[in-house]
Amino acid sequence: MEDITGNLAKVNGQIKEAAERCGRSADDILLVAVSKTRTPEEINIAIDAGVTDIGENKVQEIMDKYDAIKPVRWHMIGHLQTNKVKYIIDKVSMIHSVDSYKLAAEINKRAAAHGITMDILLQVNSAQEESKFGISTDETEELIEKILESCGNVKIRGLMCIAPYADDPEDIKVYFDQVKEQYDRFGKIEHPGLDFRYLSMGMSHDFPVAIEAGSNLVRVGSAIFGERDYSKI
Ligand SMILES: *Cc1c(COP(=O)(O)O)cnc(C)c1O
Repeated sequence: MEDITGNLAKVNGQIKEAAERCGRSADDILLVAVSKTRTPEEINIAIDAGVTDIGENKVQEIMDKYDAIKPVRWHMIGHLQTNKVKYIIDKVSMIHSVDSYKLAAEINKRAAAHGITMDILLQVNSAQEESKFGISTDETEELIEKILESCGNVKIRGLMCIAPYADDPEDIKVYFDQVKEQYDRFGKIEHPGLDFRYLSMGMSHDFPVAIEAGSNLVRVGSAIFGERDYSKI
């Protein structure tokens, strides 16, 4: 059995080291433990060890596990189809993967029906990879303007990106740097519908580099829970 508590302590140590290398504090960086494919038992071990936020990339997994997991903040980090927003609108505290106006408008509609405001991040794809979801650098500004114009029940809290895989994460730091630049630029917009606080970048193999580039929210799965076995779900 994987030593989830030990792994978590190690990840927290690495977050602290990376933060200190660039003169920042670890208190500034939110760790979202990515629990896809994991059982409620495994997730509850992580929560007992101090995890406050968990991330899932599939609506179905959130639905299946929701009642079996101790109180925690849930993050939707995967591609989200508009017809599934209704299932998670009252369960998650933030949606990281908003990549179209259509999706933002649906989140807005469902949030309004529940009398809440949903925190969202815009998923940007700075590497322009065909296979990944996300909006290009050029599209970001336009999408922000459209959302601010007509979605009173969502709040744009920042940006999210998934960097391309690289054997040496230093090779992809340039993408993190680009997203950080956008984060700083759009974060200056003054509007009640926008309050930048989260720059969501960094996964198990690249989170120290992402933190050095300015990330303040890392989404870490396998470094905490061990390698995923997709045959189990
Ligand atoms: C699975 C996943 C992660 C975590 O990946 P690890 O490599 O296991 O840390 C982070 N972000 C998203 C969007 C994911 O789907």
